[in-house]
Amino acid sequence: MRLVVLSGAGISAESGVPTFRDALTGLWARFDAGRLATEDAFRADPALVWGWYRWRAAMVAAAAPNAAHIDVAALADDGHALTVVTQNVDDLHERGGAREVLHLHGRLLASRCIGCGGRAAPDPILASPSPPEGGTRETPPACTTCGAAFRPDVVWFGEALPADVWDAAEAAVDACELLVVVGTSSLVWPAAGLPERALRAGTPVLDINPQATPLSSRATAHWAQTATAGMAQLRARLANAAPVPDAALFD
Ligand SMILES: [Zn+2]
Repeated sequence: MRLVVLSGAGISAESGVPTFRDALTGLWARFDAGRLATEDAFRADPALVWGWYRWRAAMVAAAAPNAAHIDVAALADDGHALTVVTQNVDDLHERGGAREVLHLHGRLLASRCIGCGGRAAPDPILASPSPPEGGTRETPPACTTCGAAFRPDVVWFGEALPADVWDAAEAAVDACELLVVVGTSSLVWPAAGLPERALRAGTPVLDINPQATPLSSRATAHWAQTATAGMAQLRARLANAAPVPDAALFD
């Protein structure tokens, strides 16, 4: 079966990766997303923003993929054509074994020059020493080519999604026979438009989320389960499923 898995913060929360808002603790508690996750914020205070992302990158590097990440990747081993589309900026799908992962909102464990787009190896966002517990202000390194500062390779508020990634995500959704939405509130656009696009095309959409979301009542089925429980159930059902999704898959 041609499958697309669209994942959100809920799948990584089970690995202990704090959500965006949960990462506003300690030193960062008096800031909000608008003062940490925009280009204006970075240009106004690069050390503050770089320090926050360095701390979050260190937390992700210390986390491990959970059973849900591993079950998602295993769908390809089970013989399905799988594309993973994620709103998460961590690399837990890749470390869980997934080979094709489209990062709609960029990557936390990568950085690039804000001036020329150049990169450096090893990537400075992962450079030691690791940020102390709770993080600290850190001046971002300067690009050896143009002298501008390195910035995290994530999509900030006010920025467009990477066009090549978005196009690939839409193409995968258009080609799939089942879209599985797991661990996302379905509130963040344009990502939330992908399930709507599938439903308009008549493609079944399965929503796996412990809480009901704006998608749940519109989806073909809503499993009120955690990512780990839902992915385990899906993988087991698909092992005995008809070649195309039918009611038995969702009941
Ligand atoms: Zn540069």
